[in-house]
Amino acid sequence: MKFPRLSQYRTGGTSQHMKVGIPLPRTPDGRVYRFSPNENAYPRHFVIGNVVASVGLSKELRVRMKHEPHTKQTVCPYSGIVADDDAFIHPDDVKAALEIVKHAAAQDMQDAVSDIFRNAFKGSSSVKGPIRVTTDVKRSIPKPKPRFSRQDLMRKLVCDHCGRDYGLFAIGLFCPDCGAPNLRLHFSREAELVDDQVSLAKGIETEKEELAYRLLGNAHEDVLTAFEATLKAVYFYGKAQANVSPPKVGNDFQNIDKALRRFAELNLNPFAELTDPEMAALLLNIQKRHIIGHNLGVVDDKFATHANDAKVGETVGLVGADIQQFAAIGQKVVDGLDAWLCGSPSPTVNHSPLLMTIKEPTVDPDDPKNLRALDLQLSLLARKVAVWVAEHCTDGSRGFVDASKLRKEFKDNSEVELEEAVAELATDGFVEISHFSGGGLTNFRPLLDLYLTFDGPAFGRDPVADTVTVTELALARPDSVRGEELLAQTGWDLRRFNPIFEHIAAQIPDRGVRRYLGTKLSVSSLHLLAEDRVQLKRFVARLKS
Ligand SMILES: [Zn+2]
Repeated sequence: MKFPRLSQYRTGGTSQHMKVGIPLPRTPDGRVYRFSPNENAYPRHFVIGNVVASVGLSKELRVRMKHEPHTKQTVCPYSGIVADDDAFIHPDDVKAALEIVKHAAAQDMQDAVSDIFRNAFKGSSSVKGPIRVTTDVKRSIPKPKPRFSRQDLMRKLVCDHCGRDYGLFAIGLFCPDCGAPNLRLHFSREAELVDDQVSLAKGIETEKEELAYRLLGNAHEDVLTAFEATLKAVYFYGKAQANVSPPKVGNDFQNIDKALRRFAELNLNPFAELTDPEMAALLLNIQKRHIIGHNLGVVDDKFATHANDAKVGETVGLVGADIQQFAAIGQKVVDGLDAWLCGSPSPTVNHSPLLMTIKEPTVDPDDPKNLRALDLQLSLLARKVAVWVAEHCTDGSRGFVDASKLRKEFKDNSEVELEEAVAELATDGFVEISHFSGGGLTNFRPLLDLYLTFDGPAFGRDPVADTVTVTELALARPDSVRGEELLAQTGWDLRRFNPIFEHIAAQIPDRGVRRYLGTKLSVSSLHLLAEDRVQLKRFVARLKS
């Protein structure tokens, strides 16, 4: 038996023992999920994107890296271990790949069975004898490929050593590409955000003094939180390097004396480079944090001994400059720790990461919609034809394409080129060619996957988000779901609604799907049994995960 759909993913092996490679689903910004193979590297999950900045590789930068950038190995940003890219596959991507393979194999089987029946009954319409055999071997509509949603993470960074874009859940120590310490980059990103908060507070009018004070209080707290998290991450890394399981540290890193004792276990004094006035300012700021956080900003005895100008019972003063100074001292400490991680200081210490040349996304005049960025095997022409088909379909109900209009639009391409583009789309399940009436350009129509993939670039909307919306509306109803009612509820036009409702219908068995000829909807209604509702709930969960 042949597996044409499955074979598209084939990377090796034989037709009996096929080895397949499935492209990873991407986040809206084009990053893929990664998962550290190190069980102790909490939280393990991170996302990795493209190389987006050009950084001139100097000797000083290279010496801090774990290996040459952009190789087939990944570095765990949380623990620093290095392994082949394949070791970092996220469990969600394994599940997704299995579903994609299952879908391709099932569609191949379905086609093979239809072919067997079609050949068996070719030309036969037996009317001899009492039993009449009707040969209804109409191919059922292929089910759309499974789709998965992937989310970007809050902490987005671009490595200032190799230009790789990535995102983390928590403070990371290393760039996942080149392995250079990125600790100071993390902290300076936090400091930038704090700077923004300070500017925001400065812009508030004087009558809203309390609001400004609170904003500054939050910014001040953010500096300490980032500072504490960074110290803790480095301490845990040091313990792991010494093969010691991390002890409970509580709030130790909010207190300079306790932090010093912790780091002494690693023969390290993170504050060694600070001058006396810097050390005093650091201590004072940590005390201030305590007063603002736990004493509503009212000065107590202990604080009054630290700060000469503070009187017991008064509100502790907090100005933007204090916070910026706190962040700058924190940055100096973190810069030292960043150097400790690899044995040499970063040559980027005096560079603002904002000065890095981020590559401008280049607009190719041949591809203004950036269709090449779609993770597909199709040629650019096939992609353009698909977008054109999406744009020129008026009702989303998979009608045949007007070939004369298509030829006119693509008049610079030959008939052979266009036919090949359509054949590519058919190969990948985006269109269906009707071979009964000659095939080729004159007879093809879109399949559901064309709308689900190309409605995005064609209309700037997200069919996955639309599917979630409509599925949730459907699930909010009792067992019978009428398409007309949902259409009215969404307020969308038919073109937007039809493919989405059909996408939902494809998730449940055909017995629950009603299609009536002569109506404007491709699916008229759904009748959901308890097990269908379970299917749909899981479908939504998968799309939202
Ligand atoms: Zn890097």
